[in-house]
Amino acid sequence: MAATLERAEQLDTDDELAVYRDRFVPIMDPGVVAYLDGNSLGRPLLATAERLQHLVRHEWGTRLIRSWEEGWLTLPERIGDEIGRVAVGATPGQVIVADSTTVCLYKAIRAALALRPGRTEIITDTSNFPTDRFIVDGIADQFGLTVNRIDSIDEIAEAVGDNTAVVTLSHVDYRSAAIADMAAITRITHDRGALVVWDLCHSAGVLPVQLDANDVDFAVGCTYKFLNAGPGAPAFLYVNSRHHNDFRQPITGWMGADDIFAMADEFKPALGIRRALSGTPSIAAMAGVEMGIALLAEARIGRVRAKAQGLGRWVIELADVWLAPLGFVVASPRSDEQRGGHVLLRHPDAERISRELIDNGVIIDFRNPDGIRIGLSPLTTSYVEVWHAMNVVKSQYSRTPS
Ligand SMILES: *Cc1c(COP(=O)(O)O)cnc(C)c1O
Repeated sequence: MAATLERAEQLDTDDELAVYRDRFVPIMDPGVVAYLDGNSLGRPLLATAERLQHLVRHEWGTRLIRSWEEGWLTLPERIGDEIGRVAVGATPGQVIVADSTTVCLYKAIRAALALRPGRTEIITDTSNFPTDRFIVDGIADQFGLTVNRIDSIDEIAEAVGDNTAVVTLSHVDYRSAAIADMAAITRITHDRGALVVWDLCHSAGVLPVQLDANDVDFAVGCTYKFLNAGPGAPAFLYVNSRHHNDFRQPITGWMGADDIFAMADEFKPALGIRRALSGTPSIAAMAGVEMGIALLAEARIGRVRAKAQGLGRWVIELADVWLAPLGFVVASPRSDEQRGGHVLLRHPDAERISRELIDNGVIIDFRNPDGIRIGLSPLTTSYVEVWHAMNVVKSQYSRTPS
């Protein structure tokens, strides 16, 4: 089959999730050809705009401080439960919405380290996302621990040893989109007596994750990417209930205390996942998380995953016929099973090309050193949109040899 616009239109016609595009705020800028960066900032839902109106006018504006008792206080765990149920395979009481991914990761790694006293090594990989590596380095520095940075996740079995306290990795690589084998790596880590902290930023909301079934210890993830919760919306933290009696996180604030309004002399942690909280939750920012996860519940993660695979195949097919002759290389796994929700193209001039594409309405992102990341958000991205984007790349670089 040819790489035609008609074919893209047919793929959209056959797409069960195409109806969900209308649930998002329309892009009012006619200069935007394609938005292929939803894995950095997902588009807003119309329902979020309404929810925010209601929140400001009614809950905050009229119910005022009474709203804390009328639902705000329990939002972090209620939305956490929904994320657990809909997106990450966790039964209730193990996921909480709070802070940023960075802060959640810090808490999770510190909590995991405290559960493995005497062990002094943290393992991560060199291609992990910067904030993850920086948090690991910072903790190691503060507590005199060593960091073992492996070059490839495949080296994990040789790397984990008797002195390893924590293994922390991203489930989906933010550059290549390669999916790590969560089941195998978690098992290997546990076999050596260490604990695992998974970062789900590029998995949550685009592919089904099975935290309980894989017996994961801790996980963190982002809500403003595939969950469309909005810029800086709070992250989520999963702690396996197996650890609930023992885990302690380092930022012991009043929201994580046993009785918040006791104004007690000393900190006594709440039972269960609430002890992972620190300060007052960001209620306005959680509106987007609530609406994003509700939409995903409706669309269903299995269908979202299938469309992400379809869109990925479409990008790869167009790249093979149109862009390979122009020096672009597909740098993501070609196998649907091993590729997450985006496709990385490499080109020696990727930085310049990325800038030009954005100027021409094709919104992608550049990833150091030579990557153009094509983010595919199954609830908002259409096959026609991808076709137009790839066509812009093709026409632009057939004309201007680099
Ligand atoms: C996006 C992303 C983050 C973001 O962390 P913030 O604290 O929200 O800035 C962290 N880790 C990974 C792997 C990411 O992709």
